[in-house]
Amino acid sequence: MRSLVTGGAGFLGSHLCERLLQRGEEVICLDNYFTGRKRNIEHLRDYRFFETVRHDVVDPFKYEVDRIYNLACPASPIHYQHNPIKTVKTSVMGAINSLGLAKRVGARILQASTSEVYGDPEIHPQPEEYRGNVNPIGARACYDEGKRCAETLFFDYHRQNGVDIRVVRIFNTYGPRMLADDGRVVSNFIVQALRGEPLTLFGEGTQTRSFCYVDDLVEGILRMMDQEEEPGPVNLGNPGEFTIRELAERILAITGSASPLERRPLPEDDPLQRQPIIARAEALLGWRPQIALEEGLRSTVEYFREDLARPVVPRRTIDPTPAA
Ligand code: NAD
Ligand code: UDP
Repeated sequence: MRSLVTGGAGFLGSHLCERLLQRGEEVICLDNYFTGRKRNIEHLRDYRFFETVRHDVVDPFKYEVDRIYNLACPASPIHYQHNPIKTVKTSVMGAINSLGLAKRVGARILQASTSEVYGDPEIHPQPEEYRGNVNPIGARACYDEGKRCAETLFFDYHRQNGVDIRVVRIFNTYGPRMLADDGRVVSNFIVQALRGEPLTLFGEGTQTRSFCYVDDLVEGILRMMDQEEEPGPVNLGNPGEFTIRELAERILAITGSASPLERRPLPEDDPLQRQPIIARAEALLGWRPQIALEEGLRSTVEYFREDLARPVVPRRTIDPTPAA
């Protein structure tokens, strides 16, 4: 089995590559290193059947593979809003190029979609049938609409060309190998707490999210890809729902930090609540997250303690292709 993982040097992609290699697959990791790092995959170089390719999914690519996991796309609001036109191109052109390859070589292909397709939901918690409440012209639209269009492309390639697709909608996932300067809430709060800096609480902190530990998520992705019955979409996430203020308090308790909370304005179109209904994943995949927030946060805190102790190497966070 040879698998291609686009976005394989990122947070989720690197864990996925690792699991695929552990179960004996050949893996090609394709990434343009916008938000990914070579360090995330350095330890995988010892695997004989691991290859890396620096490439941008906006440009076509061809490999003889059996399976494609399409993860390439910045996932953090600060990164996907840095060059929103590029984000749309990455989602849409990346989907077209990945699907074109799947069609050409007869590969099964999985799309890493997102709970953001539900936007700021009027239905709570969110089932897969919910069609969402996305502002098509807002600051998050480049990501939300890009991902919605990618889903459309997946189902059109499936209906029109018989491509064997799988679509998962991933809810907030966290864990080791998130970037310290990634801007997402779990990494922000942990890094701020460990540095003794104020925790930046956006809005009142009453908005909610459901946080899934990376190992659980990757298990769900693999089960989805392996099953023969359903293209999806299938929600993957941890149904435990927490306010952002609760998250901050838990992280302060785990780190033993005395950092204060510092209020900041709520970003535009920030969803007020989010919680997956995972009945479909349970029935189809026999999947349910196993790692509670407390346990997952502890191991993520340990990761960042070591990460922050490393010598600082400046990282380029500028989009490699700024011209839209
Ligand atoms: P990440 O930013 O760590 O990883 C994304 C990877 O894609 C990075 O390695 C980046 O360099 C690469 N990439 C970006 N643009 C590219 C391009 N044009 N060509 C090639 N590579 C490119 O984010 P992540 O959290 O690992 O997310 C992975 C995928 O899962 C994304 O598609 C994201 O939308 C989706 N997802 C993640 C979450 C989450 O909570 N982590 C939630 C929902 C969906
Ligand atoms: N958030 C926050 N402080 C931060 C970063 C994020 O309060 O330093 C909030 C943000 O406003 C949102 C939630 O935490 O309500 C989750 O944000 P994140 O960017 O991690 O994910 P997303 O909004 O895409 O779910």
